Amino acid sequence: MIIPSRDVREDLRRAVDVAIIGSGAGGGPLARELASAGHSVLVVEEGAHFTREDFNLKPAEAYMRMYRDAGQTVTMGLPFILLPLGKTVGGTTTVNSGTALRMFPPVLKKWRMTHGLDELTEEELNLIYGHLEEYLFVKRADPEVAGKVATTFLSGAEKLGLSCGWLPRNAKECEGFGSCVFGCPSGSKQSVDVTFIPDALSFGADVYTCCRAERIEVKGGRAVGISCQFLDEATGKPSGRRLEVEARAVVLAAGAICTPYLLLRQGLANSSGQVGKNLAIHPATQAVALFDEVLGPPRGIPQACYVDEFQGEGIMLEGGTVPPEIHALSLPFAGRRSAELMVKYPNMGMFGGMVSESASCGAVKDTGRRGYRPTIFYLLRGEDVAKAKAAVVLMAEIWFAAGAHRVFTTIAGHYELTGARDLRRLERSRVRVSDFYGMSAYHPLGTCRMGGDPQWSVVKHTCETWDVEGLYICDGSVLPSSPGVNPQLTIMAMAMRCAGFIDERLSAGKPGAGENAPRPEDVAGEPQGD
Ligand SMILES: Cc1cc2nc3c(=O)[nH]c(=O)nc-3n(C[C@H](O)[C@H](O)[C@H](O)COP(=O)(O)OP(=O)(O)OC[C@H]3O[C@@H](n4cnc5c(N)ncnc54)[C@H](O)[C@@H]3O)c2cc1C
Repeated sequence: MIIPSRDVREDLRRAVDVAIIGSGAGGGPLARELASAGHSVLVVEEGAHFTREDFNLKPAEAYMRMYRDAGQTVTMGLPFILLPLGKTVGGTTTVNSGTALRMFPPVLKKWRMTHGLDELTEEELNLIYGHLEEYLFVKRADPEVAGKVATTFLSGAEKLGLSCGWLPRNAKECEGFGSCVFGCPSGSKQSVDVTFIPDALSFGADVYTCCRAERIEVKGGRAVGISCQFLDEATGKPSGRRLEVEARAVVLAAGAICTPYLLLRQGLANSSGQVGKNLAIHPATQAVALFDEVLGPPRGIPQACYVDEFQGEGIMLEGGTVPPEIHALSLPFAGRRSAELMVKYPNMGMFGGMVSESASCGAVKDTGRRGYRPTIFYLLRGEDVAKAKAAVVLMAEIWFAAGAHRVFTTIAGHYELTGARDLRRLERSRVRVSDFYGMSAYHPLGTCRMGGDPQWSVVKHTCETWDVEGLYICDGSVLPSSPGVNPQLTIMAMAMRCAGFIDERLSAGKPGAGENAPRPEDVAGEPQGD
């Protein structure tokens, strides 16, 4: 069952087979797989639980309730990059755009060759992807629902002869509310909160919400439990109640920012020195176009179509109809100029360009800030700056080909492009990293990377840490590099794979199984209500 912190009136102690920290793309599938295999599973989630009745299309409320730092997490460095992170049951999947792509095959080849991940085969991953796609009702975005922004952009790409199409999405009967990132009000997006978590609950798993894991308990080099603090749902401050969990296996699935932060705070699993390093984020730029005719937002699919002509070079374009609140942030102007343009919102379209990093890198650090506050550093540099500019040029070209008479970018000196001449000027100009304004990123990855060598990686191919037996990491942080596309399906696939290894270990009763976690569950202090 789901146990919110408000129903917890005293300190709790639990003993289970598996304790999972985080309920997102990594934690959710693991919880369902292990609970369905008959193991007792307990999930702790720092955020609260919301349902479609709560998804009221009000962006400010959604950011405050379901995002870490109210959606204003940023990376420090040049440029500052907005990096929103979900904090709710279902993790970031509850507030993501629903694109469900398999990873770009050449990246898997690179992981095998550069990171020694010979055990990760395309055949195995494809089998898991296939299962996930069926379970999550993945199908191509419906052009009838996608909205005119998407069809217009695609028409421009087709005119230029670029490889493009409709994105696969985990959405069943999408009605095109255009608000995936504030929670799907029709319940059609098959995010973890409406799929894996309810299934895990039906197999007996428990999910404690507004409950933050603070320590991983380790004895004799083996993970034996977690120590958590309940939070007040309204203020996010500690409620004064604690949860201590004994477990035969512990899984960290707190995402690529919080997972390394938890480990760094404790100085755990870091003999390689790689915890928190190698942060990739897929930095994204955008281009907004103004048309004479009405394109008809805000109804539509925010991320409906793609242009993958330059995917091999690390540039992927994705977009559709975005709500006015996000559209306004994508304009390079403020005040009156912004207001004048926003009046023309129905005549505008916006598209995004995502860069797979080859030179840029970041890190998550514990800088000793009070509370639970990871610090994120990131530097966009080298050829990635050129790729970001190339993505903007490409989007502008496509918009003009589709009939736009103005394109707005967030590159200093090139805010407003009126046609081919401005476009060529942008193409020829030397754009510096400090010229980019308003960049964002949505895919933090790599901060506890998987690999075949304990000197250079944090987890084995099984997701178990090299240093601490029985401690697994299963979220975006284990992906060794950008997968070249949106990562949720790959994170889920890794979680399904990891569940198999944990199940094997628990079922085989490997050394230590049962020593720390007496079964049946011993529960001191039952929570009130559900
Ligand atoms: C706006 C937006 C749109 C996106 N769109 C797409 C898309 O269309 N397709 C796609 O593939 N990807 C998309 N993504 C990215 C994708 O959703 C994430 O990559 C994925 O969810 C990450 O999975 P994860 O398991 O690493 O972390 P998360 O899904 O973020 O889950 C981690 C969970 O752990 C919890 N947690 C953290 N610390 C603790 C703690 N100490 N104790 C307890 N709980 C804790 C967090 O609250 C969070 O709920 C998008 C992201 C954003 C922000």
